[in-house]
Amino acid sequence: MNRLLRENLTECRLCPRSCGVDRTSRLGYCKAGTAVKIARAALHHWEEPCISGKNGSGAVFFSHCTLGCLFCQNREISHGGKGQAVSAAHLGEIFLELQAQGAHNINLVTPTHYAVQLIEALMLARQNGLLLPVVYNCGGYEKVETIRLLSHFVDVWLPDFKYAQARLGIKYSAAPHYPETALAAIAEMLKCAGPPVLDGDGLLQRGVLVRHLLLPGQLADSMQAVSLLYGRFGDDIILSLMNQYTPPENPGDDFDTRCPELTRRVNPRHYEALVAFAAELGITRCYIQDGPAAGSEFIPAFDLSGVNASGG
Ligand code: SF4
Repeated sequence: MNRLLRENLTECRLCPRSCGVDRTSRLGYCKAGTAVKIARAALHHWEEPCISGKNGSGAVFFSHCTLGCLFCQNREISHGGKGQAVSAAHLGEIFLELQAQGAHNINLVTPTHYAVQLIEALMLARQNGLLLPVVYNCGGYEKVETIRLLSHFVDVWLPDFKYAQARLGIKYSAAPHYPETALAAIAEMLKCAGPPVLDGDGLLQRGVLVRHLLLPGQLADSMQAVSLLYGRFGDDIILSLMNQYTPPENPGDDFDTRCPELTRRVNPRHYEALVAFAAELGITRCYIQDGPAAGSEFIPAFDLSGVNASGG
C-alpha cells in the first residue's frame, strides 16, 4: 500500500461521515474496503448532452456509497455492494478501453469512497495514453479536502445538490448538514475547475455541472435549492433540473410507512413551475428535461459489463 492510500485508508475520513476506521480491517458507513469494486464500465447515453455527446460517456459505476438515499435507483450496487474488485492497473486499463470505444470522457459514478485509489488508476491511465476529460459524478456530500486531493485528476465536477433543507438530507439520505456541506463542496469544485469550458462539439471539457432532482411534494425545497445555487454561483455553474424521479422497485422494508410521499412520481405541473422559477431568476445555463419522466428502463444493468474486458 503506498503512502497516500495508507494515510487515507487506515483512518478513513474521505467523506463528511469521517468514520475514522482502518479500512484494511474494518468497514465504515459506506462498507467499502481497500479494493475498488465496480459493477459496470460501458458507454452511457443518458447523461446531459454535454456529457454524453454522440458516442456516449465512458461510465464506470462503483459499488457502495457514502450516502444512504432511501430512493436510490442503483440500490443493488450502492446499498447491496454488488460488483467486482479490480486493481488500480486493471481500472486504468478499463479507462483506456472506454477511450478506445469512443467515449467522450471517463465518468466516475459515485466514486467518493475510492477517491485515493482512483488517483493511482488515473495516473497509470494517463501514463499509458488516457487523454479524455475525467468527470466526477457524485452525490454532492463531499469533503473539501478530498476535492483538493483530486483537483489535478478531475476536469469536470458533476455533483448533485439534493436538498436545500437539512431535515430532508437527514430524512431521505441519512446525511446530516447536507446543504451546507454540498454548497461548500461545490464552491471548492468551482475553485478547482473554473467556469464551464465546452469544445466545438458542445462537450464539457472543464467546469461544474450541478444536478437537482425534483422529488414528489418537494417543490418548495427545490425552488429554495435553485435560489441557493444561483445566488451563490450565478452562471459560473451549469444547472440540470431533473424530473425523472421514479419510486424504487425494491426499497427497504419500511419505505412506504416512512415516506409515503416518495411512492409516487413527480407532478408534471410542479416541474413546469420549477423550470419557470429558474427562468424568472435569470438562470441561463440550465438543462431541463422534457417529455415523459424517465423510468427504470434508463437504469443500466449492473452485470459487470466491461469489468473483465481488459484482462486484470
Ligand atoms: S469513505 Fe466510507 S469509511 Fe471513509 S469516511 Fe466516508 S463513509 Fe466512512
